[in-house]
Amino acid sequence: MSTRLTLRRRSLRLFDIGAAVLFFGVFAQQTELPQAATTALSELAAQGYRIPSEDDPVRVFPALTGGDFSGHHAGGWRPGSIYLRQHPQGALSETIYLRHELFHEVSHRSCGGRMPGWAEEAAAMHFSGELADLEPSAWPNDAELQGMKTRISHGAELDANDRSLLGRLVVDAGWPKEPCSQSAKLSELLGEAFDQAGGHAYLLMSLLSGRILERGGDIDSRQPPGSLLKIPYAAALKQANPEVLSSELAASDTDKLAQRHEYFQTERYRLLLSPVREQKLPVQTTPADRQTWRTYLGERNTDGDFALQASLPELALAMRAALLSKPEYFRGLSQNGLAPNSTLFGQNAADKKLLRQLQALAKTGTVSTGDGQPLVGHLLLAWPATHPVFLAIFRQRGMSGAAVLSKAAPVLKNWQQNYPARFATVRVRLLTPTDPASWEARADCPELDGSLGRFTLCGQFHIVSTARGSRSERLVSGILRQTAGNGPTVLETDVETYVDSVLAAEAQNLTGSGREAMRAVIAWNGSHGSHRHADSGSLCDTTHCMVFLGELPSDKPRRSSRIDIELMQLLDKLAVETGLNWLPFANGGDQRWQRQISANELQHIFAENQILEIRREHRKDGELFIRLTYPDNEEAISCEVFRNTLKLPSCPDTVQNVGNQAWGFQGIGAGHGLGLSIVRAQALAEAGRSAEQILRDAYGQSR
Ligand SMILES: [Zn+2]
Ligand SMILES: [Zn+2]
Repeated sequence: MSTRLTLRRRSLRLFDIGAAVLFFGVFAQQTELPQAATTALSELAAQGYRIPSEDDPVRVFPALTGGDFSGHHAGGWRPGSIYLRQHPQGALSETIYLRHELFHEVSHRSCGGRMPGWAEEAAAMHFSGELADLEPSAWPNDAELQGMKTRISHGAELDANDRSLLGRLVVDAGWPKEPCSQSAKLSELLGEAFDQAGGHAYLLMSLLSGRILERGGDIDSRQPPGSLLKIPYAAALKQANPEVLSSELAASDTDKLAQRHEYFQTERYRLLLSPVREQKLPVQTTPADRQTWRTYLGERNTDGDFALQASLPELALAMRAALLSKPEYFRGLSQNGLAPNSTLFGQNAADKKLLRQLQALAKTGTVSTGDGQPLVGHLLLAWPATHPVFLAIFRQRGMSGAAVLSKAAPVLKNWQQNYPARFATVRVRLLTPTDPASWEARADCPELDGSLGRFTLCGQFHIVSTARGSRSERLVSGILRQTAGNGPTVLETDVETYVDSVLAAEAQNLTGSGREAMRAVIAWNGSHGSHRHADSGSLCDTTHCMVFLGELPSDKPRRSSRIDIELMQLLDKLAVETGLNWLPFANGGDQRWQRQISANELQHIFAENQILEIRREHRKDGELFIRLTYPDNEEAISCEVFRNTLKLPSCPDTVQNVGNQAWGFQGIGAGHGLGLSIVRAQALAEAGRSAEQILRDAYGQSR
């Protein structure tokens, strides 16, 4: 303290040479530095910068050697204060460093934070004279620039290597004279922190299958997810008290989570994060290296950089894997917003109420500048808490993860309407004649085990089936559960994926409103049909329920096709009115039937003199036809038309000439006539009926 007072008194004597810059300690005795300061400030004032004044001076202190500065950077600056090392190493003098730091001071006073960090640094280097002896050199290549570009995009401080690259760029490209301006060429090259984050981005994913159900904004740009990394970190803990752990997660308590290092399984953590392509997680670290350890929890490393940056789809797949692998660790995240120390506690009451209605688990992540300005915020939600089926991630530039909730609320309200959890899931038992051991995950999409069942990182299982008559290769998306006592394996998938697969197997040629009606019936049965096979609480994958063959390996990327909730609600109503818990197709049911029809009668019905042969015929697209052979020609008619003509209960499974001038037909299917017929649905659609009218026609009481 006493030294400081002495220095202060001495500084008063410097009034005459420029009270705008006050020198302390050893600098107070020098004359060279104050003169350099006066020159620098008059140059900057002439350029149009606002400079320090007697009323609002800047102070210059000697920096202790061995302080925070590297050998490359012998000066430091905070608003109002400059720290200089005496006799800096290297070729540059104290005056050059003083000019550099003075530039930061006037830029701070003049530019109002409009210049990105790298541009201010470039301008300071340009102004100080430190680049004066540098010859123009070759323009750095992409590989050389990559590190700096990444750090700039993360809002990290430039390191010594970046600064020397930046110096080369400024020498080559020059720097504009106008105050607070930046080189257009370099701006285009280097950009701004979080420049690509766009405004708002979000996606909704099925937690079961990994299918993206909805998306908005720029989901593809890569950003560091901040504290969302605490989710896979927690999932990689071998053991933990779930209640305590989830309250630490809700509060995003980095210190407490870091203390759990004893149970942290690095390999598991890496596996969960493997959907994220751009990562450089520390290869090896120890809890003693605190800063590096904290990068596992989403913080900056010692370079001010982030270990990982992810697009929203990559991030969602990693979060899905973490949530599925240790669901019990995360149930307590439903308290986020309710618990006073949780990150969402301070948010709008109506928005928090919406989270409670959805029964959402919530976790926030925020990436900030060194002085706490939020650069990008993430909000992760999964619901309903007891058995989550939806996963949503929202991202917003310039906002904390908690504040993102207010932006997310209108989208969530919409989803609450359009994605009710009760229609979200289909349980279907798979490929009963196949050995589950032949079902394998792909190498680039490893399989994991969770308490809910088996799942893969990308959502899909690749199945090689040896069953006769079955497609040999197929893909299914979802979670596989083994039912008790070595019972059948049940796939839990999302309703959209199930509907697409059944449509592909049962009615790929149906179009327009007929297809919409069919989609609704499949979705309704799929999400209500677990009573069909009570032992496994699931549907089967054969005609007894609805044919489900999974997705073809060659299928194009899954198109987004949403279930129409209004049609689903109509089916709810029609099912209640007719007392149905399963909506039959016109040739559905499991009643065996057989009929004999005399050749005479058949010839009369088809107006032919003679019928030589009647054969069933499977077309490549799965449609069933009946081929009738006459003495001098033949015809193939849709089996649906054939059976309507003969008033058979359903399309026959076998057709035989039974002798005695008669044909025998056998089949399976209730003859009640109720339900959606594909042929009729197509005909009604072509006649201009809406999906709603087609459903009323199939299942309404007034048919
Ligand atoms: Zn600087
Ligand atoms: Zn069945």
